[in-house]
Amino acid sequence: MLIITNAAELATCTSGYKGPKIGKDFRDCGIIKNGALAVMGEKIVAVGSTERILRRFPPRRGDHIIDASGKIVMPGFVDCHTHAVYAGSRAEEYRAKLGGVSYADAHKKRGGIFLTVAATRSATVDTLYRSARNTLSRMAACGTTTVEIKSGYGLSTESELRILRVIQELARSGPLDVAATFLGAHTVPLEYEHDRASYIRMVVNTMLPAIKKEGLAEYCDVFCDPLGFTPGEARKILTAAMRHGLRVRVHAEQTRRFGGMRVAAEFGASSADHCDFARTGDIRLLRTAGTTAVLFPGVQLHLMEWEKRGRMRARAEIIKKAGVPLALATDHNPGSSPIYSLKLIADLGMRFFGLTYEECLNAITINAAHALDRGDMLGSLEAGKQADILIADAPTIAEYLHAVGDGALVYVIKKGRVLFPRRGALR
Ligand SMILES: [Zn+2]
Repeated sequence: MLIITNAAELATCTSGYKGPKIGKDFRDCGIIKNGALAVMGEKIVAVGSTERILRRFPPRRGDHIIDASGKIVMPGFVDCHTHAVYAGSRAEEYRAKLGGVSYADAHKKRGGIFLTVAATRSATVDTLYRSARNTLSRMAACGTTTVEIKSGYGLSTESELRILRVIQELARSGPLDVAATFLGAHTVPLEYEHDRASYIRMVVNTMLPAIKKEGLAEYCDVFCDPLGFTPGEARKILTAAMRHGLRVRVHAEQTRRFGGMRVAAEFGASSADHCDFARTGDIRLLRTAGTTAVLFPGVQLHLMEWEKRGRMRARAEIIKKAGVPLALATDHNPGSSPIYSLKLIADLGMRFFGLTYEECLNAITINAAHALDRGDMLGSLEAGKQADILIADAPTIAEYLHAVGDGALVYVIKKGRVLFPRRGALR
């Protein structure tokens, strides 16, 4: 048995009811002072005050006791949106951006996603796997214990399947939980530039059936955007995906208001992601559909979109007021968000969107778990849930979140097993 005792603060992030946190509940992360919890195998069996837990589970020989005096305990972070399997670097492109070239301009000049697609297509399975595994190791060291990973840098049947098989292997080899998403509709590849309809037919008639046959994905995502697919094209793809038993996510209103959130609502998507240009009416649609809005302050940081700050702050307010669950994610990718740390994302959620400490913690734990339809298993510290636990060297949750960066994390525990502070990579 693993018993963690004497936490100065233990944030349970437990939802007030079944489902993600919204309203007043979103502003509360369920702090227990002098908290403790007990873990048997992969699961949490009890959470409460140290006195109560020790009375119920008096330590025996062989128990692993962690004294968390002066420290905080919180749920493992859940990164509900990443593009973590890719090859190639975009560092030189960023140099051009620093010189004034925009993301949209880079895309038009066949840089951007196309650079990564070319590098990913020519990379071996082994290279892709090693690189992604390294990425996941870095994320885990920053507290991420569950991660969603999208394909989308292959854009041909063969290379999309290859990426999804790499994601499957990452899920199989652990220790992180991995949710696999097919994003063949990331953008139209250059060879289909003048024949979009054929590419969409290939996604629908060849890629999706092959994915279904091999059981390679849980979700289908579409980049519904002027740089990606129209709402009509997205509907075609998502209808086919649902027919093959996949659930839906949508990249919506990222570079302009384009109708992606309406599509997300129509398909009862698990999440609508980005929402930068969403209007109040679009956001209200999500409430009825039970869709989580996922925001990416890291993209704004990396792309230096300071002018969006006021609008995104207002957007976050509208999402909260509408009673739509809000989650934050890294959107880890080599172009617009080479960010590994969800703690950094929480830091930015406060500074860019005006979210509180508690809201940010809920947005990268319980609400992100619900965005991956795993809210019943992960995202909070309560009896019966998976023992995904972080311990940080800070006297309060507020102190931990107030300090910018990752410095204070001392333990990362996944399914009851200590992953960190071991030295080196995951094993
Ligand atoms: Zn994305």
